Amino acid sequence: MTDPRDYKLDLSKNASSPQLASTPRPYLSVQFDCCKVYLRIYRSPDGRHYRGRCPRCGLAVNFVVGDGGTDARTFVVR
Ligand SMILES: [Zn+2]
Repeated sequence: MTDPRDYKLDLSKNASSPQLASTPRPYLSVQFDCCKVYLRIYRSPDGRHYRGRCPRCGLAVNFVVGDGGTDARTFVVR
């Protein structure tokens, strides 16, 4: 004999967005179309951007991390 009114569901405290704190070290896969070279670019220590350079011609790329941005992990640099 249970009274359904005794059930308390407090969901408000867990309503925050899920955390991805355990993500090891995010990186992007970048294809440099200039030299047809594929490279992984790791995130900067401050977590704000990804910086990389074409290993052949030295073309610099900088991807800024934005909130609500793209989930894409692979980019082509032309
Ligand atoms: Zn290049």
